[in-house]
Amino acid sequence: MSAYSNIMVAIDLTEEAPQVLEKAKAMSQAHGAALTLVHVVEPVGYAYGGDIPMDLTELQDQLDQAAREQLAKYGDQYGVSKENQIVTVGRPESEIHRLAEERSTDLVIVGSHGRKGFQLLLGSTANGVLHGTVCDVLAVRIKDRG
Ligand code: AMP
Repeated sequence: MSAYSNIMVAIDLTEEAPQVLEKAKAMSQAHGAALTLVHVVEPVGYAYGGDIPMDLTELQDQLDQAAREQLAKYGDQYGVSKENQIVTVGRPESEIHRLAEERSTDLVIVGSHGRKGFQLLLGSTANGVLHGTVCDVLAVRIKDRG
């Protein structure tokens, strides 16, 4: 029996996502595990404290759609089936915790920038995912390509 059978990889859709996806794909192949791909779209209002006197529904819909299209491209590229490509709206950490439990995930994979010193205090998504996910978490160190 292999250690993991249900792996979830969370990606932020930046140019760093393929680094995380490569590792996730390799892990899923090594374990013969199913791979689920997740991206969480943050509500547009959040950035402004949720207090904007405007209807942002259309903008939010456009962001969701763009995220779905980009996730589908990665899904096709990395051989992830459509039903395992998930785009949801909310706070990345909370949504990843929720989805991991809901889908009986046994390993969550995220990217990590390996922040040092003062930056550590500011927290990171990887940190947030680690604290609160009940299953194992693998943090893939993002290599600086600059
Ligand atoms: P950060 O701490 O925001 O630099 O992100 C580190 C890692 O957290 C990324 O490489 C992704 O694995 C994950 N992550 C960040 N934002 C999101 C998001 N909106 N949806 C899914 N995963 C995310």
